Amino acid sequence: MAHFVVECIDCSHQAPYFPTSGACPKCGSTWREARYDYETIRQTLPLQLARRSFDLWRYKELLPVRTPNPELTMGEGGTPLIRAANLGMMLGCPHIYIKDERQGPTASFKDRQAAITIAALKEAGVAESVVASTGNVAISYSAYAARAGLKLWAFITSLVPPVKMREAALYGTQVVKVTGNYEQAKKVAADFAKQRTLYLDQGVRSIPTVESMKTVAFEIAEQLTQLLGPPTDSSNGDLPPTASLRSPDWYVQAVSGGLGPIGVMKGFDELELLGLSNSSPKYANVQAEGCAPMVQAWNDGEEVATPVITPRTHIATLATGDPGRTYTLLRERMLERNGGTFESVTDEEAFHAMHVLAKMEGISVEPATAVAFAGLFKMVRAGLVDPSDVIVVNCTGHTVPVEQSVLGDKWAYDVEYQEAQAEKQAPEDGLLAALNHVTADRYQRIAIVDDHPQVRQLIRRILQAQGEYALFEAEDGQKGIKLIRDEKPDLVILDLMMPELDGFGVLDEMKGDPDLASIPVVVVTAKELTSQEKERLSGQIDTLMQKGDFMSDELMEEVRSLTN
Ligand SMILES: *Cc1c(COP(=O)(O)O)cnc(C)c1O
Ligand SMILES: [Zn+2]
Repeated sequence: MAHFVVECIDCSHQAPYFPTSGACPKCGSTWREARYDYETIRQTLPLQLARRSFDLWRYKELLPVRTPNPELTMGEGGTPLIRAANLGMMLGCPHIYIKDERQGPTASFKDRQAAITIAALKEAGVAESVVASTGNVAISYSAYAARAGLKLWAFITSLVPPVKMREAALYGTQVVKVTGNYEQAKKVAADFAKQRTLYLDQGVRSIPTVESMKTVAFEIAEQLTQLLGPPTDSSNGDLPPTASLRSPDWYVQAVSGGLGPIGVMKGFDELELLGLSNSSPKYANVQAEGCAPMVQAWNDGEEVATPVITPRTHIATLATGDPGRTYTLLRERMLERNGGTFESVTDEEAFHAMHVLAKMEGISVEPATAVAFAGLFKMVRAGLVDPSDVIVVNCTGHTVPVEQSVLGDKWAYDVEYQEAQAEKQAPEDGLLAALNHVTADRYQRIAIVDDHPQVRQLIRRILQAQGEYALFEAEDGQKGIKLIRDEKPDLVILDLMMPELDGFGVLDEMKGDPDLASIPVVVVTAKELTSQEKERLSGQIDTLMQKGDFMSDELMEEVRSLTN
């Protein structure tokens, strides 16, 4: 006896699960969901969890595989939840966490989907299967199909970068490159599968896919609880005694077909059903502006999304033009719960977010993933999230070899090493001098004078993340004025409250020195200024910014306008 059944979402008929029968035997609907024996699981799972290793199979009672096969696993799931302290500081939201799905076996969150789907197929004796993909599904399914000895056909839209197609082919998958959009690739795949009577992965309508994504929710809840402690009782004493896991306030994800949020939502729902959690997050689904049918429909209050026929985005991973019923279900379920939002960002905003994330948090992602972060930046700016909110962003996939368009053409120094010269000259005349010269010449020079190391670090990160600047730092007014005299920067970013010589003193000295008087100054201060102080600053500085509430973009605009 299986530990679960599939229930039709249209007629509620329940039936056993066979991967090869994709429709409700009663009404023919292909929209079905797995249901488990929640009463029993409620009693047993919490104890079991304590003893199991941290990968997605720790939730096996809630997964549609009868007997997990240890020979197929590659350690999928169990990815870290990383606090994004620098982003948090920049955005004024200290509780931002990154669910780092890049750390899956093929570096995207599709590994969960592939691991469970291929395990279910293997268990059912399926030997050959067909999938359509915008890239990462093909790669991930290929890796697991290789382990399982299952033959895979991957129909990939020609918009997908060739490096991704080649990776799928390397695993032994037969790649079929479909010149056309993703919807057309799906159609060709479906015709092919039908003709040869092969198993076709139906995305959201395949039971293992949605079930796999639940594990993202389970892990987030366990990890947040470990980091922040169990949920507090906000509902005045009627907290069920078993509610031991914490849910975030927001789950943010870049969305293409919408499988992720559908599955993650089912996961948080099941935690509530099991009495393990007493709240569910709001969902922020972010799409690329050039292919954002869900955002359009959401904004128009439509229950059905109008397909985008020709996606206008370079981000192929997110180019699902027709979300079909997935959008309708997602919208309906969001409205029944805590709501949330659908946002879109441009490709440029995504590339920009890619830089910010890499340079501020050391996390390199593919453009599709950066869409989620760009969406979060937008939401913060629009005041949609509360500074106290706990936000989890799904870091869905690692960047493939970085494309030229992402970096522009000034990404490396070009220095020539000449052996004969290097021997004759002292080191500082040779390569190093050349490098120093390049550095000094090319960049705008900015001095940061602030006695708080974290503030200097934040400003440095913001500047480094978004432009090419030579930065100098001083930790008090005395050192600051010496630095400004020595380096003659193009701009000074100055704190007011500092021991010994404060910011007012630095300004007085600068204004009294004809060499320094014309250097623009941005004052960044945490202090509420008195009218006298404001008077003292007027005419002396170019910009006044309040610490803590400045967004990186505001600072950058000032810096750009003052250094140009
Ligand atoms: C598939 C994918 C998405 C979109 O996921 P859906 O939930 O299917 O819409 C986002 N980012 C990456 C890296 C992906 O591979
Ligand atoms: Zn039915």
